[in-house]
Amino acid sequence: MPLSTPAPQPDILVVGAGPAGLAAAIASATKGLQVEVVDAMLPPIDKACGEGLMPDAMRALAGLGFNLNRDLREIENHPLGGIRFLNEQPAASTEAIFPTNPGRGIRRTVLHQLLLDRALALGVRFHWENSVQSIEAISSGHLLRTNRKTLRARYLIGADGHQSRIAAWAGLSEATIYSRRIGLRQHYAIAPWSNLVEVYWSDHGQAYVTPTAPNEVCVAFLSNTKIPSAEQALTNYPTLQRELASATPSSVPRGSITLGRNLRRVTANNIALIGDASGSVDSVTGSGIGLSFRHATALAAALHDDDLSQYQHAHRRIQLPASLMSRGLLLISGSPRLRAQLLHSFERYPIIFERLLQVHIGHRACIFPGIDELLATGLHLLTS
Ligand SMILES: Cc1cc2nc3c(=O)[nH]c(=O)nc-3n(C[C@H](O)[C@H](O)[C@H](O)COP(=O)(O)OP(=O)(O)OC[C@H]3O[C@@H](n4cnc5c(N)ncnc54)[C@H](O)[C@@H]3O)c2cc1C
Repeated sequence: MPLSTPAPQPDILVVGAGPAGLAAAIASATKGLQVEVVDAMLPPIDKACGEGLMPDAMRALAGLGFNLNRDLREIENHPLGGIRFLNEQPAASTEAIFPTNPGRGIRRTVLHQLLLDRALALGVRFHWENSVQSIEAISSGHLLRTNRKTLRARYLIGADGHQSRIAAWAGLSEATIYSRRIGLRQHYAIAPWSNLVEVYWSDHGQAYVTPTAPNEVCVAFLSNTKIPSAEQALTNYPTLQRELASATPSSVPRGSITLGRNLRRVTANNIALIGDASGSVDSVTGSGIGLSFRHATALAAALHDDDLSQYQHAHRRIQLPASLMSRGLLLISGSPRLRAQLLHSFERYPIIFERLLQVHIGHRACIFPGIDELLATGLHLLTS
């Protein structure tokens, strides 16, 4: 029997082909590195998600080499012009428009295919339905065993989500978990009634609505307790329930845990974590995917320079503002009185809400010069 020539060892092996893993593969391949990706599932991969990409996420996507004008014309999506908060009881509402480029609502499977097509065009190789079982350090890097094959690479990227095995094997799981909530997503066939992402607040949590197509919206419910069904969850949001009265569910509901979680470190030896594997913010921020795109760009630069300590620092800078916003929103969520007072203040003084939104989507420096450096120093002091 002829012996087959073993495939050459790639520079980088990415575990996980979610948005983070695909973005890491794209950013690294763009730098001329040889990349392979392993995932336990088959594409296109779906997941419980609110499916909103904020303007900073869209800028990060452009930074990964996407031509937004051309590429977005070819896929189903919906522009997002800003954010509206609505309190159910006592009734209050406020909204703010994104000051620069719009965000986009993109169905998760559509986003997956978009990222996958680009990675394939850049020569990234994929190993689907390969669940990673173990890793081992070897002289040339790492040896990784899946349920089907053995792979090697110099660098290993853990993009395998909240319960990252790569983080555990690399001894990087030490984390502060400041929140743990349940999320449930459901699509509805209905023309979006607004191009704003609407966040409905009640004593039971939040429901947020993202238009994802001219005839579809995605609703993500977030709660501290189990969400039995979308239908039941809607009863906690009577205003939204009325909006959706004529709509029919257009997808299978999907649930997931959403964590507020900061890791102490995201690199060890030749291993780096990215996306939810590297820490996460509560989903109400709508920031998870955008953060992972920014991690990807920072990580590729560090890999190119053969210096993962660069990524460790960059990751802190990227994560901190979103983490602070996540904690702030959770504080409001947990206190009906504070929530009522704040949303009432936002309604009376919309400029406060506008400014907060600008901070959230990365316009901090325009408002508070030097804030990024201040935040980075604060985080360094807190974690060192
Ligand atoms: C309800 C909800 C709403 C959300 N709404 C938004 C939103 O509106 N906007 C936003 O930006 N973010 C949102 N998020 C957050 C966002 O979904 C996550 O931040 C994002 O999915 C993280 O991507 P990831 O690639 O890091 O991880 P994942 O998407 O979890 O991908 C991990 C991949 O790793 C693979 N994997 C895991 N273990 C192994 C293994 N051992 N071997 C091989 N493969 C493995 C999995 O199959 C999976 O494909 C929301 C999250 C939830 C739960």
